[in-house]
Amino acid sequence: MKLRKRMVQRMINKTAFITGTTGQDGSYLAEFLLDKGYKVYGLIRRSSVDTTERIAHFQNHPNFELVEGDITDASCMNRLISGIQPSEIYNLAAMSHVGTSFDQPITTCQIDAIGPLNILEAIRQSSPKSKFYQASTSELFGDTDVSPQSESTPMNPNSPYAVAKLYAHQLTGLYRRAYGIFACAGILFNHESPRRGEAFVTRKITKYVASLQRWMDTNDGTPRKDVDVCPLFLGNIEARRDWSHAKDMVRGMWMMMQCPEPDDYVLGSGETHSVKDFLQAAFGTIGLDYKDYISIDPKFYRPADVNLLHADPSKAKEILGWETTICFGELVDMMTQSDYGAEIECRV
Ligand code: NDP
Ligand code: GDP
Repeated sequence: MKLRKRMVQRMINKTAFITGTTGQDGSYLAEFLLDKGYKVYGLIRRSSVDTTERIAHFQNHPNFELVEGDITDASCMNRLISGIQPSEIYNLAAMSHVGTSFDQPITTCQIDAIGPLNILEAIRQSSPKSKFYQASTSELFGDTDVSPQSESTPMNPNSPYAVAKLYAHQLTGLYRRAYGIFACAGILFNHESPRRGEAFVTRKITKYVASLQRWMDTNDGTPRKDVDVCPLFLGNIEARRDWSHAKDMVRGMWMMMQCPEPDDYVLGSGETHSVKDFLQAAFGTIGLDYKDYISIDPKFYRPADVNLLHADPSKAKEILGWETTICFGELVDMMTQSDYGAEIECRV
């Protein structure tokens, strides 16, 4: 009992600094850490519009504080990290859309490669006791023939996003070896939720399905493509991904940071599904066939794509005791239901 009390006390004294707090993962991670009693500083970048939709429900929590800044600004990162002296830093900020990285390669490089360098340098110079988490990605493996993919699978990135993320991934390992910084990289496979950005394929599909359901609520019969509804335009629907829920992933990030030694870990479900499978599951929730509603638009093909991602999370399971708790079917249901709720809310 005494030990438990001491452990809880230690938790309460912890301070976390999260970059990318306004994003999908940052919002779940902040909630998770606040629940554990952390003082959480969340980085927010200046914007002409409000970007706090995902964090609005806990923005006034007494242990939560937003600090303004941009990870591409080294002086800003140094000032914030040296002032806060966080116990744990989670670098989740990124230009996170693979397709967009082909159109904005320089911005992607500045945010996804130089951004983490700025943070690691700030730690090295001003807060060497801070632990560091880097949001690495399964995109590092590129269009590989190896399946499933583990920490030792060769990395051949196939997009400007993945190339920039590989720089940050390697840098994380280097700062660990060279300077003894507690730096971990989570090689996370795709993870989704009702808070997933709307340009990602899963959310694009669940939003469309919710709008069909809404149409059926107010009309008699089933909607006809091109007559009652616009088609859902998609690109490569043969691609396979290992999809999990973001809540499982943020728990894994935290578990890595509580280990005695820093290391890199693959987090994923260990199951792979195609975009077609996702379509079938999402349209299945409302009893319709996706083939009647989609159109393939070359605009959504990428100059180079990654066709098969399939995680081997055995290291995380063995060392961290981590595994996913929300399966593919539940994830699809949650996302379609949430989008359907939002449809109703915005049309009443
Ligand atoms: P999101 O796109 O939802 O969130 C990205 C966040 O980064 C936003 O809060 C955004 O702020 C912020 N950001 C972008 N540029 C800057 C900048 N220059 N300075 C400060 N903040 C910035 O991503 P996710 O939550 O889905 O992903 C979190 C991390 O995990 C990312 O690094 C992503 O690349 C990585 N990852 C994600 C996977 C996934 O499937 N979700 C898989 C593997 C890795 P704003 O609100 O202003 O745009
Ligand atoms: P990613 O794995 O991080 O690139 O996540 P996305 O959700 O953006 O894409 C997953 C896969 O779906 C990729 O292989 C895309 O090429 C494919 N895809 C097919 N159609 C679309 C589309 O309309 N939008 C997006 N974002 N991806 C699509």
